Amino acid sequence: MLQLYMPLNFLGVLYREIKQSLIDLQKMFTLMEREREVDDAGGARPLRQLQAPPTVRFESVGFAYDPARPILRQLSFEIPAGKTVAVVGPSGSGKSTLARLLYRFYDVQQGRITIAGQDIRAVTQASVRQAIGIVPQDTVLFNDTVAYNIAYGRPGATQAEIESAARAARIHDFIAGTPAGYETMVGERGLKLSGGEKQRVAIARTLLKDPPVLIFDEATSALDSANERAIQAELQGVARNKTTLLIAHRLSTVVDAHEILVMEAGRIVERGTHAQLLAQQGRYARMWELQQSGAEESAAAQEMDAVH
Ligand code: ADP
Ligand code: MG
Repeated sequence: MLQLYMPLNFLGVLYREIKQSLIDLQKMFTLMEREREVDDAGGARPLRQLQAPPTVRFESVGFAYDPARPILRQLSFEIPAGKTVAVVGPSGSGKSTLARLLYRFYDVQQGRITIAGQDIRAVTQASVRQAIGIVPQDTVLFNDTVAYNIAYGRPGATQAEIESAARAARIHDFIAGTPAGYETMVGERGLKLSGGEKQRVAIARTLLKDPPVLIFDEATSALDSANERAIQAELQGVARNKTTLLIAHRLSTVVDAHEILVMEAGRIVERGTHAQLLAQQGRYARMWELQQSGAEESAAAQEMDAVH
């Protein structure tokens, strides 16, 4: 009996070990899925340490997912250190592509993107991502605990820090209300979260990471309006003094931006401050009027899509 038991026990240990490696492998693949598009240049060094929020520049950037169909053409703009530049425009105009290029999911094909004067293709992508916090349009969570998902990007964060970030992102009460709390498994094989809940986890992650550069890609689009207003105030506080690329569907969130870019079909068709764009009486002014005239913001958002 013992003779039979020993190998079985051994197999059990082996099974657990293999299972754990498979889980680790899967995590790695989840990450690689997003990273396989770019390679570091030979001998690439990390981004030079950023003492303060850096200036971010897009210089004549051109990009296509498919060579037959250019998405961005000759696109240039600058986010001065510590300022917010907002991007608005119809869906499909290339806004999220800007975010993906800055985070180096893909490399630009023409021109360059610099952070603090350093071409992001010449430095390691890991160091670029370390400097940036991104709340993407569609957040994919790891098949792991809520705590892991929030602390990802700042390993070693304490439970108190994790909870404080979750509170600021208005997700703490929801998490605390689940039987396993912060140890609840989420993702495909765990608790399914709604789009808004996933967005709030991503916001908590970004608040905790506290990086010098921020990207918000319609970061609150899946939230109900009460949560959106509360979190928007939080995000504006966080973005103060950080270099921020703010992609927005609702214009009310971009009023204070240093510059607003209106995109259409991969080009910047209008740009300026809120006041300048209103005075220009172009597309932005028309979208703004729609919102002010008492029309629901969602109607203005739809208008933006309809214009497209
Ligand atoms: P926006 O965020 O303004 O809605 P996107 O930057 O997501 O626009 O997309 C710009 C264009 O690129 C769209 O026409 C979209 O269909 C296309 N696109 C986006 N992602 C991909 C991809 N992974 N592969 C091919 N085409 C894509
Ligand atoms: Mg988008």
